[in-house]
Amino acid sequence: MNLDTLCREMPKIELHAHLNGSLSRSTMLSLQRYLADLGIKDKTNVFINEFQMSSGDSKTLLDAFSLFTIAHELTSVPESLAMATDMTLREFEEDGCCYIELRSTPRQTPHMTHKQYLETIVQTMRNEKFSIIPCLIISINRSSPNDVEMITNLAIEYHRKYPDTVVGIELSGNPAVGRFSHFLPSLTRAREAGLKVTLHCGEIPNQQEITEMLKFRPERIGHGVCIHPNYGGNEEIWQLLCKSQIPVELCLTSNVNTKSTPSYSAHHFKELYNANVPIVLGTDDKGIFATSLSQEYRICAETFGIDPSKLVRLSLRACDYIFSHDKKKTLSDRILNFINKNAL
Ligand SMILES: [Zn+2]
Repeated sequence: MNLDTLCREMPKIELHAHLNGSLSRSTMLSLQRYLADLGIKDKTNVFINEFQMSSGDSKTLLDAFSLFTIAHELTSVPESLAMATDMTLREFEEDGCCYIELRSTPRQTPHMTHKQYLETIVQTMRNEKFSIIPCLIISINRSSPNDVEMITNLAIEYHRKYPDTVVGIELSGNPAVGRFSHFLPSLTRAREAGLKVTLHCGEIPNQQEITEMLKFRPERIGHGVCIHPNYGGNEEIWQLLCKSQIPVELCLTSNVNTKSTPSYSAHHFKELYNANVPIVLGTDDKGIFATSLSQEYRICAETFGIDPSKLVRLSLRACDYIFSHDKKKTLSDRILNFINKNAL
């Protein structure tokens, strides 16, 4: 089996994907048509080609947050949000993902409340037939500090109502805005209510915040770029991460295309992998970065010389880091089956 086929066919676990950043071009075009048929004017026509970032352009991490507003135009009514959720889950399914924790910030629009936004995604996940197992992580946006209590209350309410679907809460958004300490009491409350926590951590050098985040001991962190001393971190926080064994969600293409990392070969994957820090590959925003989870696995194998047997075990180990523990055995059995069938 060649590497492309292996990466596509091996059952994979996606743990770091933002719904609005994951919209593919074809999904966006379908949503545009749908809104036009409803007579709802959206302003995305001229912008849809802008909804992308590559390593060769001048856009940086901060530009990624403004790109989200393009997708937001298309997911502003419940029906188009449901379509976006459904089509995105099917794309992950077609790419060989067997489990996903999709994430999104509940948004108020002229056509729906925060609660309706959340309800729409949850019902789409629960009512449509998928072979992929879909779960939801509710995002708190660092740029909207005043919403944190309201979003946390919604997350707790929906976790109680649908514990199989709403499994976690996370902190994301522009890392240069806001302080982690502001969000800590709400995240603690969510955790006490049974939600698992993941934090975008170390996207920019900020040793004090990284220390506070690691000491909070989230169930996972995202990116962790500026933790190792070679990448804007220091020995103290690096050792803190290594000892904590907190799993890190790594998004290679996202880091390269936002210029957080100069190239694939300079990505901190290798430091984490060699230090046996638990890692899981993710896409972050497959629409914006024109990638897929199978492509991330292929790039990882090619860049760091990971052989097929080790590559598929990266996917297997990801089962240990999912937020719905009761699904762990089903998923790991499925990946083990693939390993045995292909003598990997
Ligand atoms: Zn992210």
